[in-house]
Amino acid sequence: MVNIVLFGPPGAGKGTQSEYLIKKYQLTHISTGDLFRKHLKEGTPLGKLAQQYMDEGKLVPDQVVIDMVDDKIKNDGPVTGYIFDGFPRTVAQAEALDKLLTSKNTPIKCMIALEVSKEELVKRLLNRGITSGRADDQDETKINTRIQVYLDETLPVAKYYEKQGKFNPINGIGEVNSIFNSICSIIDK
Ligand code: AMP
Repeated sequence: MVNIVLFGPPGAGKGTQSEYLIKKYQLTHISTGDLFRKHLKEGTPLGKLAQQYMDEGKLVPDQVVIDMVDDKIKNDGPVTGYIFDGFPRTVAQAEALDKLLTSKNTPIKCMIALEVSKEELVKRLLNRGITSGRADDQDETKINTRIQVYLDETLPVAKYYEKQGKFNPINGIGEVNSIFNSICSIIDK
């Protein structure tokens, strides 16, 4: 079983790379953003709770996110590995994920951080907003809030994995295929 954390700011290409990685390594995708959007669409209480935070580009409270991931993992049948996309986004979430996976005897193998400049992120997110229909991709103020939240609250997660010797930064600008190859060479190490 191989568990991978795909890390990076909004617009870094985590979703795109996840699609390729899922196919190559037969991984189960856990994107907390996708899970919240699904709850939102279905109008569940969890979706309603998350909506206010998502609308503002802020993080949903840790315990809500952790319980949702916990629930998803517990209800999944046997899997060959997970790719975590957009999670963990705080050190508390990273600690909770370690605890959860330790109880399943299947730790995180590596964390791969896609690095992209702020100017490029804003450009990509505004572009994505044209087709994604995501309100949080269409408003530059919200985009800036999300990037700032990433810098303030999520970046410390990189240090958390660095201390464990699992942090692997890579350049997230360039051809999708060559970025994919860089990621694979880290996973295959
Ligand atoms: P994403 O699709 O990953 O960009 O997430 C969209 C929004 O969902 C974020 O701006 C947050 O409001 C919320 N969200 C997604 N994942 C998390 C997480 N791990 N922790 C807290 N909030 C999250």
